Amino acid sequence: MRYLFNIRKNNMITQQNLEKFKNKLEEEKRGLISEIERLKKIADFGDDIDSLDEEADETEEYGNQLAVAQDLKNRLADIDSALLKINPPSGKGEYGICEKCKKGISLELLEVDPESRLCKNCKRLSINSKAAGK
Ligand SMILES: [Zn+2]
Repeated sequence: MRYLFNIRKNNMITQQNLEKFKNKLEEEKRGLISEIERLKKIADFGDDIDSLDEEADETEEYGNQLAVAQDLKNRLADIDSALLKINPPSGKGEYGICEKCKKGISLELLEVDPESRLCKNCKRLSINSKAAGK
C-alpha cells in the first residue's frame, strides 16, 4: 500500500481513501448543483407573478429559497476547495489537513464530512464562537 502523504502515524490517508473521498465529494457536488438549479428555476418563476398579494408571499418564500441556495453554495465552495486539494498538481497533499491548526483531520471526521476544512477540535471551537457571537 502506497501512502500519498503521511499526516500523522495514526492518521494516514491512503490513495484508496482519497479516491473514495473524491468520489463522495463529486457525487455530493452533482447533487448540490442540481439542487441549486432547481431553486433557481423556482426563483425565476416567482419573478413572473404580478399580483401584489401573491408577491408578498413570494418574497418570503423567495427569501427562504435564497437562504437555502446560499447555504448550498457555501457547501459547494467547501466541496470545490476540498476537491482542489485532492486533485494534483494543485493539491499539495493538503487534503485532510486542518486549515486552522494544520494538524491532520481524523479519518473518522472525513468519513462523515469529507469537505471539512477544519479538524474536530477547531470545528468545535468555531461553532462555539459563532454561537457566542449571536
Ligand atoms: Zn484544527
